[in-house]
Amino acid sequence: MDFANILFGGPCNRFCPFCIGKQLPGSVQVNNLDLYPLRNQERFADEVNRLGIRQVVFTGTVTDPSLYRHQARLLDWLRSNIHTGASYSLHSNGVVAEQRMHEFNLYDKACLSFPSFNSQTYQRMMGSPKVPDLEAILRGATIPVKISCLITPDNYPEIDDFLKRCQQLGIRRLVLRRLFGEERHWEILPQRTPVSHYRGNPVYDYDGMEVTYWNFDTSQSTSINLFPNGTLGGSYLLTETAQFQEMAGR
Ligand code: SF4
Repeated sequence: MDFANILFGGPCNRFCPFCIGKQLPGSVQVNNLDLYPLRNQERFADEVNRLGIRQVVFTGTVTDPSLYRHQARLLDWLRSNIHTGASYSLHSNGVVAEQRMHEFNLYDKACLSFPSFNSQTYQRMMGSPKVPDLEAILRGATIPVKISCLITPDNYPEIDDFLKRCQQLGIRRLVLRRLFGEERHWEILPQRTPVSHYRGNPVYDYDGMEVTYWNFDTSQSTSINLFPNGTLGGSYLLTETAQFQEMAGR
């Protein structure tokens, strides 16, 4: 088992048209941003220990985990109760990172969903024209920051410039993601040859920045997921979690 995800629900500070959490049943999208302890928190830690999982991720279904009000307390508790040597990672849209740098730096690493530096493109993809100041976030960060960039027709024409700017800002790892269920194939770094593959996904060296072109549909990662309503599910593809298939009558 590769990952253990803690999923947060509640209002988000962005309005992405492709928000995957909105495909989940309403019953699991409950607001847990002010809840401590989380529902099934102890069972989650027991499972992480039992399965020997070494990567715990704070992420969202329909919200940004940086909006959770008890991040420090939950991290402390997990670090005391999980004995697998796990690292703790924040998967966030970065919107409040600059204002909450102290909490941001409590994690071992962070991955920011960041599709464009261009305000108009950002608005089309995230539902707001306000682009987080990535340079300022990187200046304040004391932990490694990876960028996760969804590719759609909106930002595809900018990808070359986007990669160049991220590399110039000192980003060391960047992932380009296809939309869940996307059938189009984007041509990425056509002049370059992958230096390796990670779980079937090509990895490129972009002048010192590692760029992975990630295809969710064919990747073989596995995880357990603690949903906001306390459901503990066991599939990497959230919408394929067995409990939800049963609920949807599939
Ligand atoms: S930032 Fe994440 S949780 Fe918020 S709307 Fe966008 S995809 Fe959904």
